[in-house]
Amino acid sequence: MLRSHIDVSCYAASQITLPLKAASSGAVSSSIAYTEMRMKQMVTPVEALQIVLDNVCALPPEAVPHAAALGRTLARDVVSNLELPPFDNSSMDGYALLAADVETASPDTPVMLRVLATTAAGDAPQHRVTRGSCLKIMTGAPLPPGADAVVMREETRAENEGEVLILQAARVGQNIRRAGSDVARGERVLRAGTRVRAAEWGMLASLGQHQIEVFRQPRVAIITTGDELAAVGDELKAGQIRDSNSWTLRGLLQSCDAVCAEVRHVRDEEETLRAALRECAATCDAIITSGGVSAGDFDPVRDVLPEVADVRFWKIAMKPGKPVMFAVMNASDGHAVPVFGLPGNPVSVMVAFEQFARPALLKMQGRNAARRVVLRACVEQSFDSPDGKEEFVRARVSPDGSDGWRAHVTGDQGSGRLSTMTAANALLLVPADVTHVEPGTSLNAQMTDWPEIE
Ligand code: AMP
Ligand code: MG
Repeated sequence: MLRSHIDVSCYAASQITLPLKAASSGAVSSSIAYTEMRMKQMVTPVEALQIVLDNVCALPPEAVPHAAALGRTLARDVVSNLELPPFDNSSMDGYALLAADVETASPDTPVMLRVLATTAAGDAPQHRVTRGSCLKIMTGAPLPPGADAVVMREETRAENEGEVLILQAARVGQNIRRAGSDVARGERVLRAGTRVRAAEWGMLASLGQHQIEVFRQPRVAIITTGDELAAVGDELKAGQIRDSNSWTLRGLLQSCDAVCAEVRHVRDEEETLRAALRECAATCDAIITSGGVSAGDFDPVRDVLPEVADVRFWKIAMKPGKPVMFAVMNASDGHAVPVFGLPGNPVSVMVAFEQFARPALLKMQGRNAARRVVLRACVEQSFDSPDGKEEFVRARVSPDGSDGWRAHVTGDQGSGRLSTMTAANALLLVPADVTHVEPGTSLNAQMTDWPEIE
């Protein structure tokens, strides 16, 4: 049965062309009419993304131990309650002294100082440096009281026991890392919505933040459809192919820090799919289906999803990935679950994930930055592109040897050819009205990956 509308407490209605709610609540016939209209209307990729983003919001925050924070998104600004570094210390191995003592020092006119002691990282300051004296000091050791500069070891010469010759003048503050010079007390160090990368993880450790407030990661169910699918370890029977989509989808989920909560395979049977969707909606924050969403005789997602969820669009003017059904499902406990009905072709599923599911999953984990870097790249080959559809052409983008980028199209663009993705690190964005591209044309390249280069 079709629901007329869903409980979307945190879900904003789309600002784009499509009406997203039935006008009169509870009017099933009205909802059917809207659903039919949405399923007929073709949206552009930009409109589709906006609709998707308007229908998802950040999941609630939770506290995790510091050790589990890598890859998570900060739910709060991090404000430092201490100074970094916590005390003045030496940035060099050398001698801590008074700059005024060594004003005239040079290799030809060295200044002799008395060495009071040696201090290393981890020592508490014990000796006071006075005129004519110094402390031998190691990197990271606290600056002894009285000293106002450090001369590096290479600019000194050890003399008799307990004495050193300073061969260079020093300015006040030289080779000293002042308390708070990295981070001041009270400073906002990290913004909410930031992904914890290695640097942020280290910073949080430096600040002694052992419990971190992060947004919950979306738990995503993958449902693959298709009677023809065999598992990776299976012998192939006649007519079978191995399922690759569940693996590319798992990889894509991991690449955007979402959690793959479960992977199910269902045959092309409506009843089984209906049950799988309901069960996954009960336990997950989002569902991604693969295959069965286009116009064929055995495409169950196309028929079942509109029954169990509120469809927001079905067709997108893009290649590959035209049939993509986006719907919002009401789980039995009332929470709204976005469902991405992605195509079955191995390239289409990846491109559609990249354009719509990835930004949504990033938004669900509260991420500030959710857009891929787009750069201008000069295309090496000529190719044709369909009229009226934005095309996402798989390409390998690399430095062109001067200051720009070149794009090598990774072969025939059949949407079943996963090899065009293994060779690619970018999608060239060919506008809907461009039907032919000549070598040397500059196109926007959406970088899906930044590999090391040889
Ligand atoms: P469909 O949209 O279900 O008609 O599938 C389109 C094409 O993608 C067909 O050639 C399917 O065999 C193929 N396909 C569907 N699901 C998968 C999958 N999980 N892994 C690899 N290929 C698939
Ligand atoms: Mg199928």
